[in-house]
Amino acid sequence: MKTTNPSRVSEQLARLISTVKEDRNGAPSEYLEDVEDRPVDGFAVAVCTTDGVAVSEGETQQAFALQSVSKALTYAVALQERGMDAVLERVGVEPSGMAFNELSLHSDGRPYNPLINVGAIMTHGLIPGNDEDARLELLLDRYSQLAGTDLTISEDVWDAETARAHQNLGLAHMLAASQMLPDEAHEVVRGYLGQCSVEVTVEQLATMGATLASGGVNPVTGRRVLAEWVCQQVMSVMLSCGMYNASGQWMAEVGIPAKSGVSGALLGAVPGALGIASWSPRLDEQGTSVRGIGVFEALSADWDLHVLRHR
Ligand code: GLU
Repeated sequence: MKTTNPSRVSEQLARLISTVKEDRNGAPSEYLEDVEDRPVDGFAVAVCTTDGVAVSEGETQQAFALQSVSKALTYAVALQERGMDAVLERVGVEPSGMAFNELSLHSDGRPYNPLINVGAIMTHGLIPGNDEDARLELLLDRYSQLAGTDLTISEDVWDAETARAHQNLGLAHMLAASQMLPDEAHEVVRGYLGQCSVEVTVEQLATMGATLASGGVNPVTGRRVLAEWVCQQVMSVMLSCGMYNASGQWMAEVGIPAKSGVSGALLGAVPGALGIASWSPRLDEQGTSVRGIGVFEALSADWDLHVLRHR
C-alpha cells in the first residue's frame, strides 16, 4: 500500500465505491429470492493490513453469507487438522477450467481442486467430527478465530440453499460412488451448505484475509490460527483456482489470491500486506460480484498489489 494512513485509505475507498457503484450490470443469485431483506444494490468494501489496521466504507454493518468464500477457509482448516498429504490424497490443486458446479473428477478420481463445489464438498467431509454438527462446530470456531469475532449461521440462507441442493447432492453421490466421501452424502452436503451460510461483515471478512496474508496470525487479536505453510497453500490455490473458469484472466489482470461467493462476497489476501473484502450481490456469468471485480481491479492497479509484479 502506498499509504497506511487510515483516513487517506478511507477517502480512497469512498471514492472507489462512488465510481464502481454506477455499474448496475449483473443479477443477484436466485437463492436470495428466499432470503428476507435482500439488499440487491448494497455495496461495502474493507481492507485490513497485516498490522491489524482495518478501514471500511459503504454498508459496513450489513451481514452477508460467505457462500463459496467458505471453501478457501474450510480448505485451510482441513489442511491444518489433517495435514497436507491426507488432504492432497482426496483433493487436487489443478484449475478445472469449468463452471463451479460441474459434475467432473480428475482421471485419478479426485476433484480437481477444493474451490469448485465437488472439491469443496470433499474437503468439508475431511473436517474432523463424527457428524454434521461436530464438523460445523469446529468450522465455526476456526472461522470465528480467523475473523476475530464470534460468527453464526444464517438459518434463512441455509434453508434456501438446502431447498436448491440437487446439483450438490449429485456431486456428493458421485464422490460416494467412488468411495471418496468418508460419510453419508446428504449429511456432508447439509454441512457444506451450513458453512456456506455463515454470515460476516466486510470488515470481518477483510480480517480473515489479513490473517491469511500474515501467515496465520490474526493481526487484530494477535492469536495464531493457522500454520504458515497452510496459508501459503491456501493462497496458492486461491490464486490459481479461486475465480472458477475466470481464474486465468483474474491471475493475469488482478494478480491477488482471491475467492468469490454467490452472495456477492469477494475475499482477497496479499501476502505480507493486507486482506481485502467486498460485498455487492450483482453477479457476472461466472457467479462473481461485478462491482467486486471493479474494486479489486482498481485496488490492484492503484496500490500495485499484483503479487507477480516486478519489484
Ligand atoms: N452454496 C452455493 C452452492 O454450493 C455456493 C456457490 C458459490 O458461492 O459459488 O451451490
